[in-house]
Amino acid sequence: AAWEKQVRQSSTPRRPNGFSILVTGAAGFVGTHCSLALRKRGDGVLGLDNFNSYYDPSLKRARQNLLSRNQIFTVEADLNDTPMLNKLFDIVPFTHVLHLAAQAGVRYAMKNPQSYVQSNIAGFINLLEVAKAAVPQPAIVWASSSSVYGLNKDNPFSEMDRTDQPASLYAATKKAGEEIAHTYNHIYGLSLTGLRFFTVYGPWGRPDMAYFFFTKDILQGKPINIYKTHDGTEVARDFTYVDDIVKGCVGALDTAEKSTGSGGKKRGPAQLRVYNLGNTSPVGVGRLVSILEGLLNVKAKKHVITMPRNGDVPFTHANVTLAHKDFAYKPTTDLATGLRKFVKWYVSYYGVQPKVKKDTPSEAE
Ligand code: NAD
Repeated sequence: AAWEKQVRQSSTPRRPNGFSILVTGAAGFVGTHCSLALRKRGDGVLGLDNFNSYYDPSLKRARQNLLSRNQIFTVEADLNDTPMLNKLFDIVPFTHVLHLAAQAGVRYAMKNPQSYVQSNIAGFINLLEVAKAAVPQPAIVWASSSSVYGLNKDNPFSEMDRTDQPASLYAATKKAGEEIAHTYNHIYGLSLTGLRFFTVYGPWGRPDMAYFFFTKDILQGKPINIYKTHDGTEVARDFTYVDDIVKGCVGALDTAEKSTGSGGKKRGPAQLRVYNLGNTSPVGVGRLVSILEGLLNVKAKKHVITMPRNGDVPFTHANVTLAHKDFAYKPTTDLATGLRKFVKWYVSYYGVQPKVKKDTPSEAE
């Protein structure tokens, strides 16, 4: 098949000094950034994505083009395509898998619950099955989510805090992923590292996320809905800039043990680890909007609704002590700085002729 030839010819296999990494969800937002960073530092990267139409597929194609300009080939395949995955692991002896493919979004789960089961549960299990059969077994780092903390009221969230109150089916499938990972580590000794990302934003971001569609609607003069909790409390998120998340992913890959697969050296069972990757400073949605207003030089038409949206949690806040201890994770980008980079990308990607102030720092900096 054409893709097989492409994979064989791609720069992925067997880099003498680097890892050989399969990035699933490579045409996604976080996947694109991670793939580029890994490639840049000399690792071999092969992407996989099913290019589903959950959001604008042309944005995924544009990211794929960016990857391909950086010598990263992306195989178009679904996580549930077992023969394809088997073939891929046959051709390339991956040392690592960065598993980012998932059905994301909390609202869409009410429309299409099965897509979450398919990608986040069945697809993850399928990937683990293929990986455990591969010799040597690759170390797997995968994206969990801060949404596993659900309605937990601890502030901030630590990895040991309870995760048994998911507020959405998305969160429930992410939590299921952590438990599935536990069994594959326990039974088969697979090396598994779960990363609980906290609201990631930045250039090439996801159109279904608030900072993205707020930007779009504010620029188009459309009203934006701002949801509060019943008692009027503002919703707050620990918005985390994508470059910080990328550093966390790379750190986790570097720290992950190679597993004990029959081709590997004999040692104790590889560990299962779970880490928070957040920014450690939650920001209210009102503040998010005012930063965007400053950057776009447009006043937003705000429509305040004192009712939480289904699936949303009131706040998120990461404690990242564990990731800092194990791989020196340290977020460095504040929201105003990160949003300035996002807006710069947005206006250039969509060719908006904005009233945007050119590179003037926002009042927040
Ligand atoms: P994204 O939707 O941009 O990327 C996911 C990619 O996976 C998409 O390109 C999609 O086409 C692909 N995909 C989905 N199902 C697939 C399947 N069955 N087979 C093959 N490919 C498939 O999302 P993102 O924001 O880049 O998120 C990456 C990961 O991080 C996801 O696992 C997500 O759940 C998790 N996460 C993201 C955030 C965030 O704020 N962005 C927060 C917490 C967790």
